[in-house]
Amino acid sequence: MIKKNDIIRLQINSATAEGSGVGRTEEGAAVFVPRSAVGDVLSVRILKVKKTYAFGRIEEILTPSPARIPPDCPSFGKCGGCVWRHITYAEECRLKEQKVRDAVERIGGIQTVFRPIIACDATDRYRNKAQLPVGRDRDGRVQIGFYAFHSHRIIDCSDCALQPEQFADVIRVTREFIDTYDIPVYDETTGQGRLRHLYIRRAEVTDELMVCYVVNGNGLKHEDVLLKNLREALPNLKTVIFNSNREKTNVILGKKNRVAFGEGFIEDELCGMKFKISPFSFWQVNRVQAEKLYAKAREYAALSGNELLLDLYCGTGTIGLTMASSCGSLVGVEIIPDAVHDAEENAARNGVTNARFLCADAPEAAERLRREGLTPEVVILDPPRKGCGEALVRTIRGMEPSRVVYVSCDPATLARDLKYFAENGYITREVTPCDMFSRTAHVESVALLTRV
Ligand code: SAH
Repeated sequence: MIKKNDIIRLQINSATAEGSGVGRTEEGAAVFVPRSAVGDVLSVRILKVKKTYAFGRIEEILTPSPARIPPDCPSFGKCGGCVWRHITYAEECRLKEQKVRDAVERIGGIQTVFRPIIACDATDRYRNKAQLPVGRDRDGRVQIGFYAFHSHRIIDCSDCALQPEQFADVIRVTREFIDTYDIPVYDETTGQGRLRHLYIRRAEVTDELMVCYVVNGNGLKHEDVLLKNLREALPNLKTVIFNSNREKTNVILGKKNRVAFGEGFIEDELCGMKFKISPFSFWQVNRVQAEKLYAKAREYAALSGNELLLDLYCGTGTIGLTMASSCGSLVGVEIIPDAVHDAEENAARNGVTNARFLCADAPEAAERLRREGLTPEVVILDPPRKGCGEALVRTIRGMEPSRVVYVSCDPATLARDLKYFAENGYITREVTPCDMFSRTAHVESVALLTRV
């Protein structure tokens, strides 16, 4: 059996759901090797050995996979963002399709039709949001960037290839301000210091920029200078917010916002409609792909004009509102009050009059609506990673919709929930993966289920 520090020859045959390559030793033990590619033949140093598997690091690439390309980012392999800058996009898409299929078939035990992944036109600069931790390294230098993999060490990053170029300007202005006024940055271990995170959002179509500083307190000394510098450097700056987070926690945002400049929100467009985006509200990070995803969801919903549509986990109302003109009426459910408020305003600003939104836990609200006799023809679900769970599936069965459209950002919980649906009389007709998060191992999917 292999042991730590052994150097072995390894052929990479598959990839894990997290994006690491996997090969097998002669004894059959799986060895996980980050930043390897399927088809690589490698010389690998063993770093850690468990009972039936091990972790290794590439010492030398003996024969490169045909899918290999040179990584084009200095932070690749250090920051916890991209896992796949060293393989072609076609290979990435293949791995993502495989990940969705494997989850649905193996975890869910579901046989269905898998459509090709909806690929991106641009695999860089697609993100419209960044939440960057601020700290100092051992030598006291300011670090603004990303956490390293499975760690809270900040990898400084002045410009991330997944983000708009403009975010680099916000980072630069912030860094200069911290240096000039010696602003105390937050230290996670002691809970001391002020500035914790820099949170940026950009509305792509309107080119409006939101900058939010998460502070351990109410604000920052010399805040007015920071605002002035930001406005000078960024003509499209629409609003600046100070979010107060005094808790010793990994949760980035605190509960209280103070608007220091502008109105506290930005506005973007999606599928030809206008949407208000507040700091606490969910907003799809890849707008271009979100439009393609919604188009697929709309196709699956197959609305004829009269249906009652239930949009669960609706965020700012986007999916439902973009379908509102094709259905009789729309009910949206979302747990974050600000998002519900945005959803209501979004309906109004787009002249949608057949929608109402409830601020509630989706499973609880759905159960209440069912008892009140609500019978939607189509239900849309777009839960966070943990999925919707069995109770909600049973409630949905009780409402007897003819179609369910399930949008998911986690194939494993999607697969589990599809199985619950199967046990409750809903067949998965089709699954389409959609690449919303290029260069990372995350993959979105949309599934169509119909009542038997
Ligand atoms: N459909 C929206 C949002 C999807 S993200 C869009 O495409 O933009 C998932 C949403 O579910 C988030 O807005 C989150 O706040 C909300 N959410 C999380 N847990 C919830 C729960 N238990 N009940 C209702 N909504 C919840």
